[in-house]
Amino acid sequence: MKTNVNLQPYNSFGFNTVAKYFVEINDIQELEVLITTDVFKQEKHLVLSGGNNVLFQNDVFDGLVIFINTKGIEILTEDENEIIVRAQAGEDWPDFVKFTVCKGWHGLENLAHIPGKVGAAPVQNIGAYGIELKDSFLQCEAFELETGKTKVFGKEGCRFGYRESIFKNELKGQFIITSVDFLLKKNAPLHLDYGNIKAYLEQNGIEKPTLLQLHDAICAIRDAKLPDVKQIGSAGSFFKNPVIEKAQFEALQKEFPNIPHYDEPNGKVKVPAGWLIEQAGWKGWRNEHVGVYDKQALVLVHYGGGNGHDIVELARKIQDSVEAKFGIRISPEVNFV
Ligand SMILES: Cc1cc2nc3c(=O)[nH]c(=O)nc-3n(C[C@H](O)[C@H](O)[C@H](O)COP(=O)(O)OP(=O)(O)OC[C@H]3O[C@@H](n4cnc5c(N)ncnc54)[C@H](O)[C@@H]3O)c2cc1C
Repeated sequence: MKTNVNLQPYNSFGFNTVAKYFVEINDIQELEVLITTDVFKQEKHLVLSGGNNVLFQNDVFDGLVIFINTKGIEILTEDENEIIVRAQAGEDWPDFVKFTVCKGWHGLENLAHIPGKVGAAPVQNIGAYGIELKDSFLQCEAFELETGKTKVFGKEGCRFGYRESIFKNELKGQFIITSVDFLLKKNAPLHLDYGNIKAYLEQNGIEKPTLLQLHDAICAIRDAKLPDVKQIGSAGSFFKNPVIEKAQFEALQKEFPNIPHYDEPNGKVKVPAGWLIEQAGWKGWRNEHVGVYDKQALVLVHYGGGNGHDIVELARKIQDSVEAKFGIRISPEVNFV
């Protein structure tokens, strides 16, 4: 266990928050020992994987950071149609997706290039390009910090929702996901209908993409619109897309006829938060340290020299102005620490 560790390399905003205690877990059995220590018993703790979805609000994290770095990928079962593969929590998500794609296994390709680790993926049921983690999720194993017991969570037990799960809500901070099992297909139709996948493939003369070509296309599309966190700090989409009542949407549509929207199965309507933020005049806004990314208004960025407080303040101003213009209070997707 280390003390006073600068978390700058461990969070994609690149803030210089210092953790009072920091422990790296390379083997799950180390958790059993950790929970018997005085530091664990006395300090508050934070489970940290890649740090791509956390916002450290303060310059000091007054507690214990448990950094998960366990590795391993294994095939559990396989037949001619499908395969069940287990990945340990500390495996890099984009590398794992590429691994499955190169094997010719379908299911995760549209989730390519989402930064982070496998163990964090169920926490907010990561999603992109019309697919969510839950679509290929079978179950995960999780270590209960209070009891040291391991529990298996199936799909139902995870209570997945839009960027939500039980681990982000009721059981927040209580379990460490230690491994995730995925059910992948050896043959399945590709999902090309979302966003500009088809346009990109057409522009690049690809008529019938292979799994790998689709994976690479998604990586290229993402690179073109999202900042590279090695150069500009961010946590990707900062806010969730609000889901509103149909009546509220129809009233808004009268005032803003071009408002983009997606009908939800429950009769409600999802509105892109990026559009709301852009209409409120924030796209490309910046001060010395932080701003709103000029290619995607949903992404708040840290240009350097700032701290979590700068982002919190900016986020609040954006929320207020979107609410004043549209009557919708957008809420963060990012985990505030
Ligand atoms: C440029 C960029 C683009 C992004 N694009 C997308 C996108 O398209 N779709 C999307 O859904 N997300 C996106 N994100 C958000 C982020 O990549 C995902 O949320 C990812 O799963 C975070 O993984 P991480 O390992 O960095 O988790 P962390 O940031 O370390 O942790 C996130 C949360 O999960 C908890 N946690 C972490 N590991 C565990 C564990 N093993 N067990 C229990 N709890 C745990 C943490 O305490 C924290 O609350 C993007 C982020 C960036 C920076």
